[in-house]
Amino acid sequence: MIGKFEYCPLCAARLEDRRLDTEDKMRPVCPRCGFIHYDNPTPAAGVVLFSEGQLLLVQRKHEPRVGMWTLPAGFVEAGEEVPACVIRETKEETNIDTEIIRLFGVYSAFDDPRASVILILYLARQIAGELECGDDASDAGFFDLDNLPKDIAFRAHRAALADIKKQVVRGLL
Ligand SMILES: [Zn+2]
Repeated sequence: MIGKFEYCPLCAARLEDRRLDTEDKMRPVCPRCGFIHYDNPTPAAGVVLFSEGQLLLVQRKHEPRVGMWTLPAGFVEAGEEVPACVIRETKEETNIDTEIIRLFGVYSAFDDPRASVILILYLARQIAGELECGDDASDAGFFDLDNLPKDIAFRAHRAALADIKKQVVRGLL
């Protein structure tokens, strides 16, 4: 079977791999109700936030990649605007209240075992709140760009950190 479902999530019939008339691609299709499993990537959103030249990172408390570091980020909830997700996740993980400045960048990653992910990062500034590690993180802190933790979880975050460093060098951040 291709895709992550073996059975139809709507009617529980066994899915079959079929080539749709409209596409040159195999997809799992339900022979009973016609459900098509597209397996689209899952959007996640996170923050690029500096304080006195140091970048905010959090340490993962839960699998996958427990103990490794990322930018504060999380999956976008149904019905939630992406910037609101950034503000919510930053507050939950670091207790910092933020104000969005602008979109920083968008990254695709295929190395998260939970889903293929599109990570949407916003640049934000701190407007209130003291840094305090939240329930979802085992640690949180501000780091100099030339002294970041070595163990960064997920390709999307590593790519983003490389872009952040480049932009700082060029005076764009
Ligand atoms: Zn079905």
